[in-house]
Amino acid sequence: MRAHSTLLATLTALRFLFAFAMADTPAPRKTMEVVALGTGGPAATGRASSGFIVLLNGAPRLLVDAGGGTFARASEMRLPLENVDLVLLTHLHIDHCADVPAFFKARGILHDGPYTFHVFGPEGSGQFPAVSQWLKLLFGKDGAFAYQPDFNDHETLIPTDLTRDLTKPPVTIYEEGPLQISAVATHHGDCPSVAYRIDYAGASVTFSGDLDASALPNLAKLAANTDLLIVNAVVLDPPDSPEILYTLHSPPAAIGQTARDAHAKRVLLSHIGPAIERNLPSVKASIARSYPGPVDMAQDKSRYLVLP
Ligand SMILES: [Zn+2]
Ligand SMILES: [Zn+2]
Repeated sequence: MRAHSTLLATLTALRFLFAFAMADTPAPRKTMEVVALGTGGPAATGRASSGFIVLLNGAPRLLVDAGGGTFARASEMRLPLENVDLVLLTHLHIDHCADVPAFFKARGILHDGPYTFHVFGPEGSGQFPAVSQWLKLLFGKDGAFAYQPDFNDHETLIPTDLTRDLTKPPVTIYEEGPLQISAVATHHGDCPSVAYRIDYAGASVTFSGDLDASALPNLAKLAANTDLLIVNAVVLDPPDSPEILYTLHSPPAAIGQTARDAHAKRVLLSHIGPAIERNLPSVKASIARSYPGPVDMAQDKSRYLVLP
């Protein structure tokens, strides 16, 4: 009896302490972090091709492009992939999507129960399939990896083809509580392309994808007041890069003007071409002529906490 009442008193005290601790512990802060998996382009120059993982509250949730080598980088970092269900593809050049099947399989073998991928990408044109068709070519009934959707548990793919109409304003393509994803069409030679913005709990990051200068006004609209603007940097200011590359990529001076117009808080250069690597001080100086904010060059496996 005595033991019983002592136990009761202890439990009451513990309950009080627990309630006190609960009341005193602030709710966990919502955070968004970007991990640069691959910060290079198509050339084999020491960086993985282009791709990022975005962590919400410390857990990987979104994949933004997945060029060759990005899966190896995620593996080297031991990133848990079982909740990565949102895939944003800026365009279907190989250096931005070659590792998508590797990510799908890695999640598939981990997952206990049916699972879904929401996959966003541009609509098709010319030689380039729409992202929905591209998924069918890979994972459909007659696709190259037709086995994958039922390899472990059942995988459902939900594709969304995004407009390539440059006259359309940015649109919200996904919403879930404090998470909002928007997109706008960009221009990248003959390859349909889009840029994405992720807003989470008051912070935002914008991914340019590959784009030539004709699409920078659209990027500036999408990136208005963004906390982190990630821009692909391949060419030097004209005429220092091969003429043909200006039909695909945007030079530093124009990137600086765009970051200024968008009032971006900071700029991260990625998809680093060898010319950018060799001439970083002059690239930064060119951007700084218009844009006063901080500009950094991404490295594979670097992490960026996005703060409002
Ligand atoms: Zn590229
Ligand atoms: Zn490209």
